[in-house]
Amino acid sequence: MITRPKPSAKAPDTKIYERRESGVRSYSRAMPRQFNKAQGVWMHDNEGGRYLDFLSGCSSLNYGHNHPVLKQALVDYIAGDGVTHALDLHTDAKAEFLSELENVILKPRGLNYRAMFTGPTGTNAVEAAIKLARKVTGREMVVAFTNGFHGMTLGALACTGNAGKRGGAGVPLSHVSHEPFDGYYGPDVDTADLLEQRLADPSSGLDAPAAFLVETVQGEGGLNAASPEWLRKIAALAKKHGALLIVDDIQAGCGRTGGFFSFEDMGFTPDIVTLAKSLSGMGLPFALTLLRPELDVWSPGEHNGTFRGNNHAFVTATAALRTFWADPAFARDVTRRGALLERRLEDMAKRFDLSTRGRGMMRGINVGSGDVAAKITGICFKEGLIIETSGAHDEIVKVLAPLVIEDATLELGLDILENAVAETIAPVDASDSTGRQTSRKLGIAA
Ligand code: PLP
Repeated sequence: MITRPKPSAKAPDTKIYERRESGVRSYSRAMPRQFNKAQGVWMHDNEGGRYLDFLSGCSSLNYGHNHPVLKQALVDYIAGDGVTHALDLHTDAKAEFLSELENVILKPRGLNYRAMFTGPTGTNAVEAAIKLARKVTGREMVVAFTNGFHGMTLGALACTGNAGKRGGAGVPLSHVSHEPFDGYYGPDVDTADLLEQRLADPSSGLDAPAAFLVETVQGEGGLNAASPEWLRKIAALAKKHGALLIVDDIQAGCGRTGGFFSFEDMGFTPDIVTLAKSLSGMGLPFALTLLRPELDVWSPGEHNGTFRGNNHAFVTATAALRTFWADPAFARDVTRRGALLERRLEDMAKRFDLSTRGRGMMRGINVGSGDVAAKITGICFKEGLIIETSGAHDEIVKVLAPLVIEDATLELGLDILENAVAETIAPVDASDSTGRQTSRKLGIAA
């Protein structure tokens, strides 16, 4: 039996936040509740409300909130006075993580990377990746792509397309060329060919790049999924022009698109890969830059940070690798569930004359404008579904459900989303009024 969300009816008291928290806060504006518990796919507020989480910490909670196995591993580690902070000293927790990474992730995929522990957020991993590419090649220019999102520190922000985010920099953001991503000019223009032409033309104005920095599915930029053919061309171009290929797998990695890495089975191997978000498995801050061993030209401490390698995150990440990735059944199940999500979103798109985006369990629906999307996500939240938007105009309603969600609960959330779309956008078929909600709600307990 699945249960449906039960949002709070009482108006929340947000005065302390308005008085004391910086205006930079964002998600809490659209979802002004005070959350105090979270388990699996559910979040609870302090008024007794229960919400289904289709945001998952922006894909930081792929295994749901407080997964019991991960939580127990951490509780045991803390209870045993395991080392919490050790700079980059060797610890049991780090050794176990590196061994598990080697045995469960790298070796079975035929990958040979060294792990560089950066500061704890994704943007640190991106900074390290582009610094390393510049150091290795002696070049300055990085090719990033339209609608790419790579983080908020200045180097990563320079690689990010979004004008609103770039506007916060306060200094020029330079040494990056933003080339058109796959599909940017529509299906008939191959943007990899355009890039090839620019790189081959000594008069194009594009300096020889140190790296290409690419997301295989653009998480914040609108869930644009690059085709494997396009990515293979980009990889080949990087090689031909002496640039390193960096795949930013911070949002699309750790299973979000099915495999542990989003580029698996695509026929190319990145030189550098960045991971963060769901790497710790439990929402603990933890970021990693993976690099081919030949590229490891760092001097000791040349790129460091006090919180490089978070031992608590090593423990939960190790438990996550063992629990979910030692057996290929998990990836298969994510792929199967991603197909269910695709079917439901395609049906919705047909019903309302919309289009879908994404890959695996990283998908969304383009509702045409940020205003419409905000209305839809607002209705969803009132119904107890936490869901957000993405895209250049925030026009994509983005489903980032936990990968471990049961099919029936996924369908329940999608029913709430579909009803919210129906309240906002007229269906193509004028005789279609309330749609599928009635039959789907049968068997759902409050
Ligand atoms: N790269 C990608 C693809 C991301 O989606 C994000 C965050 O959303 C980042 C980098 C930055 O990660 P963080 O917010 O942890 O610094």
